[in-house]
Amino acid sequence: MTTKNKSDEKPPAAVQALLRAIPKVDEFLGWLVDVDDVPEVLVKNTVRGLLDQMRQAILAGAGISKSDLAKDALLPRFHKMLRAKLRPNFRTVINGTGVVVHTNLGRSLLPAAAMDSLLAVGARYSNLEFNLATGKRGSRYSLVEELLCELTGAEAALVVNNNAAAVMLVLETLAQGREVIVSRGQLVEIGGSFRIPDVMAKSGATLVEVGATNRTHLRDYENAITDETALLLKVHTSNYRMIGFTSEVPLPELVALGAEHNLPVMEDLGSGCLIDLSRFGLEKEPTVGEVIKAGVDVVTFSGDKLLGGPQAGLILGKKEIIDRIKKNPMNRALRIDKFTLAGLESVLRLYYDEEKALAEIPTLAMLAMPLEVIDRRARRLMRRIKKRLAEFCLVELATIDSRVGGGAMPEQSLVSRAVALQPKGCSVNELEAALRGLAVPVIGRIENERLLLDLRTVSDQEVSQLAECLLAVFEGEIL
Ligand SMILES: *Cc1c(COP(=O)(O)O)cnc(C)c1O
Repeated sequence: MTTKNKSDEKPPAAVQALLRAIPKVDEFLGWLVDVDDVPEVLVKNTVRGLLDQMRQAILAGAGISKSDLAKDALLPRFHKMLRAKLRPNFRTVINGTGVVVHTNLGRSLLPAAAMDSLLAVGARYSNLEFNLATGKRGSRYSLVEELLCELTGAEAALVVNNNAAAVMLVLETLAQGREVIVSRGQLVEIGGSFRIPDVMAKSGATLVEVGATNRTHLRDYENAITDETALLLKVHTSNYRMIGFTSEVPLPELVALGAEHNLPVMEDLGSGCLIDLSRFGLEKEPTVGEVIKAGVDVVTFSGDKLLGGPQAGLILGKKEIIDRIKKNPMNRALRIDKFTLAGLESVLRLYYDEEKALAEIPTLAMLAMPLEVIDRRARRLMRRIKKRLAEFCLVELATIDSRVGGGAMPEQSLVSRAVALQPKGCSVNELEAALRGLAVPVIGRIENERLLLDLRTVSDQEVSQLAECLLAVFEGEIL
């Protein structure tokens, strides 16, 4: 490597000649013919960006020649850059990872009924905060409170921006300036910097850790109770599992202890499912209804994990406690918008009929999906691509494990079917990057030098599009 080109050194003559050969912005603009419907500022910025790129490449000694700076070499590069600029930054992708509740890819997909209500309230006025019975100002929360209570048996409910906000709001309301007792085994970090001890500190409550990492007993909580105690907190260890010599205090025992000492008990349930999914071979998780029935004072969970709705934090529990939380001024800063409400109400209504919920809520449908259905999809994809890709790539069916995701059931394996690609002319990492760079990006996962596309998380409607994407990447020589 050379380390010439100090700032006081003039570039050599050859470099200067190349720099002079870069067209001026106005000259370049004169070359353009078919950009009338593109905003001028985008065109100009793209031209400047491209010319600057060329300048940097020349200065970096990247082997640029005069012909690279000619009109017929620069124009295609300009159009490629402009196309990328015109593409929305936020767009849809094909999720071939097999992670159903994929936090980075948008978590839960909304059912069609929810999409209809989103469209309706987005484009038209609504009774968001208007009580149609009295003609007076209403509360947005009341639109889903009754539904939530009916579905779970809770006395009252409130919905905020997400579960992190829900936990923060409950702690701030019930325990600011006082102590909250939590088991050491439940001081979890849920990705994206949500850590129970940090949230506790921000809410102004003091964390009192009890028990050992692997085992906490009822007497540990009991011994920690003082005049300063405000709350007993149980946290779902969503994304990790302890095995071996472990024990947690079951919720009913914690509730009994709370009652004895006149202390409220809270559970942060994380995923919060309304339906018992164990009949589909998934791990038995307590449903929200069971947690309420066990007598918890307040429970929080996400709207977009196993519930399968929009991003939201649901807070359910005893009326007296929920009323206090509703009055907390912080609540106003954490409130949900009309789209969330519309989506959430539609999703919750589907739960009145469990079978309907399982069929129509995509998150639940994907988790409960029989292997035959996934297998059929995988074979459909194979038929579309196998022959045409034969010269570029080894294409096979593979049996793999999907994941629930969203920090739920970390040890759960869901047998699934994937199409596995082993490219011949490039590395599997290059293939992965090329698929990610498509107009409709395809996200898969790499395992043992193969790119796996799990068909559990690719809908029937997306299979053809996925085939087109794969063909484009190989046959279009995008690689
Ligand atoms: C996911 C999770 C959270 C955070 O929920 P968000 O809706 O992502 O804010 C909090 N606690 C637990 C136990 C979780 O699993």
